[in-house]
Amino acid sequence: MVLHPTLVLDLRYLPVAVFSHKKAFLLELLNRCEVLEHYTTIYLHSPSKSYPAPLVIRIPVLSKHWQTISPTRRAVFTRDNFRCAYCGRVLKDNEITIDHVIPKSRGGQWRWENLVTCCISCNQKKGGRTPQEAGMKLLFKPKKPSGFEISLNRWKKRINREFSEILKLYLPSFNRVRLIEENFW
Ligand SMILES: [Zn+2]
Repeated sequence: MVLHPTLVLDLRYLPVAVFSHKKAFLLELLNRCEVLEHYTTIYLHSPSKSYPAPLVIRIPVLSKHWQTISPTRRAVFTRDNFRCAYCGRVLKDNEITIDHVIPKSRGGQWRWENLVTCCISCNQKKGGRTPQEAGMKLLFKPKKPSGFEISLNRWKKRINREFSEILKLYLPSFNRVRLIEENFW
């Protein structure tokens, strides 16, 4: 079954995640969410009935509780769009690694703000030095993404017309959508 995205809002109507329409429908059946909008073009079918798939749901959490993601390698790669933070190349699995901007040996920590996606050759060139010492420049300043940005990024290939329209409506401003598109995708 093809999965479609459902926008998930918290109690204050702020976007916190993107679920599959199937998962959202299950929450609807279990009375664990409030459905604010349905798809007009996507349905779920039981033997006897069709149900419009949830497009926007609201769940009883507050986003600050939701956004406690600690960085994993994969999450850092996703944040950085699988590009080396120094040379900008899009990397394959066999040439991708993580760079501590401030090296571990100098007290640099495993934190969003100190980790970037890096190719193996830039990583070797930098060695145990800071970017300044190595004469290398970061193409962006690493920062902690919101849980919503991570979640949305996972769905980027399956964003459909109805979902992108609703995203413009529920994100604080359209500029924010553009920001995500430019910096994140
Ligand atoms: Zn590189």
